[in-house]
Amino acid sequence: MSVTSESDVSNVPEENAEWHDLIQRNPEDAAAASERALHFLRIAEIHEPILNHLNLRDVCAFGQIHRDLRGAPGAHFDSHFNTLLRRFFADAKGFRNILRRLQAVISGSTVLSFISRDPWESRDLDLYCPLGTAHLMCDYLSEVEGYGQPRVVRRSAYSAQQGIGKILRMKKLVDQVVAEGGEATQRQIQIDIIESITTLAVEPITNFHSTAVMNFLYADGVVVLYPDLTFRRISVKSNRPNIKFPPYPKYEQRGYLIVETGYDFLCRTACPVLYRATHDGASMMLRFRDNGTFVPGLAYWRLNPNDGEMDDCLNVSCPKRTFIPIA
Ligand SMILES: [Zn+2]
Repeated sequence: MSVTSESDVSNVPEENAEWHDLIQRNPEDAAAASERALHFLRIAEIHEPILNHLNLRDVCAFGQIHRDLRGAPGAHFDSHFNTLLRRFFADAKGFRNILRRLQAVISGSTVLSFISRDPWESRDLDLYCPLGTAHLMCDYLSEVEGYGQPRVVRRSAYSAQQGIGKILRMKKLVDQVVAEGGEATQRQIQIDIIESITTLAVEPITNFHSTAVMNFLYADGVVVLYPDLTFRRISVKSNRPNIKFPPYPKYEQRGYLIVETGYDFLCRTACPVLYRATHDGASMMLRFRDNGTFVPGLAYWRLNPNDGEMDDCLNVSCPKRTFIPIA
């Protein structure tokens, strides 16, 4: 560590002056103090409340500051995931087993708030299942979790183009937690079971209306498809056919900047003509536990498909842009 000269003291912010002084006087004491500070960060009572306020990317960065904290991000999100599931399921562990067996995933705004730590609490959950498995999921939810019979949802004519085969909706009434002395009430929770048109549950997710919601939770981890943009609160529109009312205002209210595809400063991972894969370097993946679970994914997709209106990138400096030389 380099030690600054006396003349630099005036540049040290007041709150760091004492620390700076200690480093000057006794570097060994300073090292011991910093070790003690790290020791506190490794105590669950201290680091859990800190992690509760950080988004997924920052929790992962926190896990890098000391070797003893390496497992902390996974363990933290593992228990956070169970907390989320307990809002919908009496047996969170059992439900994760079903996710694992069917290679199904959870997606939608619930996952966005899970990774960004925004305080919106949705009353419904979107489950995505591989082709031919929706009825297995429905059977489990009604038999084990007490949900009512599934009802077919006919949301839009575009469903098949969005990679969606069918949508089933199940509801259940649960006891509302009320303050002491208050009257007990019930609230309705709802699960949409969305069956993919292929054996890959993730297929419909890459057809969503914008990049901020292209994330999913699987049985033992989470995958974020556009982390660079999402954690900067930027969401790029895809030109996929939308469900009837694209919910852009909802995300603008939550502080997301919604932009059109092909903006030059945003091209890169969201380049409309770039082929992406869920396991590529631009995606972010965190395994909560390392038990060899298969990570559901998709070999490739493009933000704007060939059959869409756009076949080229609008960014003039994009290397993927078609170049037509003048003769
Ligand atoms: Zn581009």
